This record gives sequence, structure tokens and C-alpha cells, in this order.
Amino acid sequence: MERDPAPVVDRVFNFSAGPAVMPVEVLEEARDDLLCLPGVGSSILEISHRSPAFDRILGDTLGILSDLLGGSADHEILLLQGGASLQFSMVPMNLLRAESTADYILTGDWGKKALKEAKKVGKTSVAATTEPTNFDHIPAQDALTLTPGAAYVHMTSNNTIHGTEWHHLPSVGEAPLVSDTSSNMFSRPIDIARHGLIYAGAQKNLGPSGVTVVIIREDLLDRSADSLPTMMHYKVHAENGSRYNTPPAFGIYILGLVLKWLKGVGGLAAIEQINIRKANTLYAELDRTEFWRPHARKDARSRMNITFRLPSEELETAFAKAATAAGFDGLKGHRSVGGMRASIYNAFPEEGVTALVDFMREFERKNG
Ligand code: PMP
Repeated sequence: MERDPAPVVDRVFNFSAGPAVMPVEVLEEARDDLLCLPGVGSSILEISHRSPAFDRILGDTLGILSDLLGGSADHEILLLQGGASLQFSMVPMNLLRAESTADYILTGDWGKKALKEAKKVGKTSVAATTEPTNFDHIPAQDALTLTPGAAYVHMTSNNTIHGTEWHHLPSVGEAPLVSDTSSNMFSRPIDIARHGLIYAGAQKNLGPSGVTVVIIREDLLDRSADSLPTMMHYKVHAENGSRYNTPPAFGIYILGLVLKWLKGVGGLAAIEQINIRKANTLYAELDRTEFWRPHARKDARSRMNITFRLPSEELETAFAKAATAAGFDGLKGHRSVGGMRASIYNAFPEEGVTALVDFMREFERKNG
């Protein structure tokens, strides 16, 4: 059956919270090489995960990851499956020993889900929660109640649903800082030395769903008990170079292409400037009139997920409908906040933000 490829011009502005927009260059390269990886004779979907071709893909992907992290020698990078949600369980199963306590800083629904799993494993304590104001801010340092000698302190660096983001790291003393960075990983430089463990499902800034990046400080690998199920054991994955079993090969391949693209843009410092510009453009419109009601407090605003409401639910429904018709997809907010959410990850084009702002101005002019 003959079929023309969908022209790029048919693509909408995709504001989905995840899986989310990918760089067009990455999709084009993947499309071009899908039948046959250059020089390999088969596609990425058809080759052994122990083949030299996959050795190269995995090695290149890990290499760029390490470069973007500033080449930290103290941390091991693992590429796993099960999404960020499996890390909600793996983190406590590996790092939370009997008699110790894990501290959780709750800044959104995902942090609550992480805590729920940790409670099944061992002792936990809530170091702070911003739930009383519907997770509209990030707690100040002096609002944290940290457990002396905690096994680790868990935070969520960007709150996908509520649209808040940490713009500084909390001080947690000697305890390893564990961060769920699923929705802002590599959107800005990352101070890896201050983290014990970072994890991120790939499907927002990094690639397709199905691959999860876990970066763990090497000394923490010794905490995992031998009694853990093998597939839950960080050290097993580390010792086997993320190939204890068949890894998510296609996801790793696409992750590698996305990271190459990111390097081409200029790396983390460069993408941060672009992300600041995009977010500022959208927040400037939200601050221009009382018509828009941004959810997050100003000092906690996310650069990735921008949440806002309109004066009434009727107007929100009308806005969502008109936006979809105008080619702006995925703007309906999560029910926990209501209203709208514009997710503008690394690959979201700047012209899409400008176009949305023009659309919003027109909507406000007609309905304000
Ligand atoms: N943490 C955060 C911050 C998220 O945004 C998400 C997904 N939206 C998850 C965890 C869960 O990720 P996964 O679906 O990969 O399990």
C-alpha cells in the first residue's frame, strides 16, 4: 500500500503534558532510519540488544547523558523500564533500611504517590507539604522539618499537574537528596553533585515512554539488600550496564537522538535560556490582565507546565474548544487544578508560544 508521509505542516502545536512534543529533526531521523540503521542492514526494532550496533547506540546515549551532567564520575546512569512510577517503589526498596526514616517533601500529586509507595516499604515522614493551598508554591527552607539521619529526602523538582518548580535545591544536610525530575529533566543545568539519586520517565523532555533515566551516586548502590527481587535491584542493573535483561532499545535509541539534538541546541545552559524566554512570554500574558488566573505563586512558577484558570468554567470550556479548533492541542488542565495547562517542554517551538499568546489576547478581547 502506497502511503505518503504526513507533511510536517499538518502538525499541531502540541501542549500535551506527556508523552509530549518531540523535536521534528528527531522524528525525521528516526523515520529515515526506521527500515534500516545506516550500515547495519536492520532496523533498531530488529537487532539484538547485545549486537555491536546496539552497543554503539547505548554507549553514545550514555556518553551524551554523562556529558550533559558535566561528566560526574561519582554517579552511575541506568536506563530502566517501568516509568517514574516504578521508581516510587524502587527508591525506598533500595535506599530505605529498617530503622531509618525517609523524608518526603510534598509539592504535588506525584510526590504523594511516591510517598504512598514508600510507606509500604518502611518508615516515612512528611518534611513539608503545600497541599493546604492546592500545591501552589514550593516550601521555603525554614518550612522543612527534616529527620536527623534520614535515609534520604525525596522531592519532585517540577510539579507537572500544578505547574510549580523548584528554582533552588533544598539543603538537606548529610541525607542523600532524591529527586523526581520527570517533567523538567535537562530543561536547565543540573547540580548532580548535590543529588544522591535522580529519576525521570523519558516521555516529556527526553524521548518516548518506556525508558526511565536513573542517576545514582555510586556509594548508594551498596545499600540494596540481596533479598530484593533482581529486577528491582539498582546494583544488578548497574553491574550489567542496564542490560540485565532486554532493555527498551527503541526508547534508548530515540533518547540518544533527543540528547544529540539537545547538544546541537547548545546544551543545558542554552536550552535554559530558551525555556526562560518561552515561559516569560506566556506568563507576561497571564499577568497582563485579571482575566487570566495563574495557579502557581510567582516565585514557584514552572517553566515547563503553565497552569491557569479563566473567570468561569463556561469560559474555560469555550477556550479549550476554540483553542483545539485553532490548532493548539492538549491545553485542558488536570482536574486537580482545573482550567488550562500549557506544557512547553524543551522541544516545544517558540513560535507556538507566541501563537498561543496571540490567540489568548484575541480570546480575552472578545470575552473579557
Ligand atoms: N512524576 C512526575 C513528576 C510526572 O509528571 C509523572 C507523569 N506525568 C510521573 C512521575 C509518572 O511517570 P510514569 O508515567 O513514567 O510512571
